[in-house]
Parts: sequence; structure tokens; C-alpha cells
Amino acid sequence: MPKQTISLAAAAMLLCSICHSSASIALEGIALEQPSKETDLYSFKWNHGSENCNDSDDPVIQTVQVDSRSFVLRQSKCSNFEAPFMYLLVGKQRALLWDTGTSANSDVFPLYETVVNLLHDLRSNEEKERLEILILHSHRHKDHYAGDAQFIDEKNVTVVDPDLSAVHSTFDHSGSINEPIRIDLGLRQLTLISIPGHQADSVALFDQSTGWLLTGDTLYPGSIRVNDWPEFRSSIERLTRFSEEHSVSAILGGHIEMRADKNKIYSIGSTFQPNELPLALSASDLKQLNQKLQSVDKPKTLQFDKFIIDPLNFFELKLQKFMSARAHKASTK
Ligand SMILES: [Zn+2]
Ligand SMILES: [Zn+2]
Repeated sequence: MPKQTISLAAAAMLLCSICHSSASIALEGIALEQPSKETDLYSFKWNHGSENCNDSDDPVIQTVQVDSRSFVLRQSKCSNFEAPFMYLLVGKQRALLWDTGTSANSDVFPLYETVVNLLHDLRSNEEKERLEILILHSHRHKDHYAGDAQFIDEKNVTVVDPDLSAVHSTFDHSGSINEPIRIDLGLRQLTLISIPGHQADSVALFDQSTGWLLTGDTLYPGSIRVNDWPEFRSSIERLTRFSEEHSVSAILGGHIEMRADKNKIYSIGSTFQPNELPLALSASDLKQLNQKLQSVDKPKTLQFDKFIIDPLNFFELKLQKFMSARAHKASTK
């Protein structure tokens, strides 16, 4: 058997499949969809890409208004196969944008413009002057923070870096990482919970107003890559306890990759998912995962109806370590 070698480009591609980051495909001139009201996220069928993205007229950002001050946004599969979800929760003083998608370029992915337009329609005259935008992230993988670049120099915007230390200093949190952080958007209370495992900076966000528990890539209908198994188990246990003590109406993650018909995921890089599962998972899905994890102490693939737990293998872990050491070296030069 020939000796196998891996180029840096191939390594980067493989890491993309680990961290869900990738380059964008330009898709220009597409109008934004009007939001619909009172959407049931347990059954709502999202735009799911196209067999031929050149002919697709899906908006680059699908925007769904679920209640008067809560929005779910999805980047188009034809814009980027990751098609990450983002969430906009609007309080009286601040609006929180949770994750910013895969693309910094506002010409091909007009996230800032989309958010400003949504807020403009909502604001009362009194709010117009002072409503700020706060940006937080589910974790530090590029498909969830690349769009930050569009917000950083804008007025009335605070972009918190996607790492735990930045989150802690922003909210003056000096307690243990396991202690929840409370955030008040103005008549809208949120709780931030540290959930390392998929990635070390992973956090979940609970919105008391909707009952949504936003879980990023730690729990969603797809293949959930686990970097640190013991941390992941503890995080899922912590989240389960939290969901037992709070009214969680839906668990909403960062992607959809799972097929509704075969309990399988669409292949990595797929830009067409015609029969994907709905976005929302329930507190009982979380409980079921926690029960299973408690009986499995070594990393192992676990198949569920709506998601698959997929630990990184030895080679992927080594590669990830190598790439982050390389990135760290470059950033300290
Ligand atoms: Zn991720
Ligand atoms: Zn992701």
C-alpha cells in the first residue's frame, strides 16, 4: 500500500469538516425573504439549498420572525454548505445577535444590513436612539463568527470575541466557568452556560422569554463532533439539569445535517438537503442523550434518531492540535 501523505491544503479541508468552517461561494443579487409570523420550529421547513446553486433564487439569508421580537436566520446552503443558523433576540435596551455566519464579505452575505433592517422595523421612536446590538457566539469555530467583521466598526455595536475569557471580562464574571452568567437585554433575561466539549469555548444561551435553549454545535440535528469527551459528558449533564429546572420550549442549534427519512446525515459539503429534519430538538432529546452518555465513559459514536454523536478520532485530534499550535504561533509573531 502506498504511503499516505497529507498536504496542508488537505489538512485544512479536513479541519473544515471538523470545525465546520469553509470558504464562501458568492451568490449575489438575491432579495431578502419577508419574515413569516408564529412559526413552529418543530415542523418548519427551511430553505435547503439546490441541486444547481447557479439557478437558485433562495435569499442568501433566510429570515424567520417567530414572535414579535425573536428571529431565526439561516445562511443559504448555496452561499455556504454549512448553512449556519443565527438568532436575533430583541430586548428593550439591547438586541442580541447569536453567531454571525461564515462570511465576512457583506457584498455576498449582507448580515449587518439584514440585522439593521429587522431592528429598524421593530424600534419604537423611543428605542431608535438607544437600542444597541450585542454580538455573542456559540463557540470559536469560524462558521459562527466570520461575519463579525461586518459589525466591528459600526456604531452602537459590541462584538464580544468568541472565547470564554472575553465573555467573562465583558460581563465582569469572576466565578467558576460552571457558574451561569445572567444577561439583561432590557425586559428580556438571558442565561449563558459554559458547555465545553465540541470546542473549549462553547456556551449555550437560554432565553427566558421564548424558552429557547441555543446550543450551537453542541446539540443540533446532525453529526456532532466531540473534541473532549469527558468535558462533553459533563456539559450535557449540566445542560440537562438546567433544562429540568427551566421551561425549555425548544433546543435550537447551529446547523441541520440530518435526513428526516434515514437517520443519516447528508454528506459533508452537500449544498442540497431536500429532506432534512426540522431545526428544533426537545428537552427530552437532551435527556435521552444525557442518559446514554452516562453509561459510555470512552469516546464512541452514538446514533440517535435526530443526531449522531461523533468523537474526533486519534488522527483528527492530532491534526487539530497541530493546526491550533500553528495558528497560535502565527498570532504571536
Ligand atoms: Zn463547531
Ligand atoms: Zn458549526
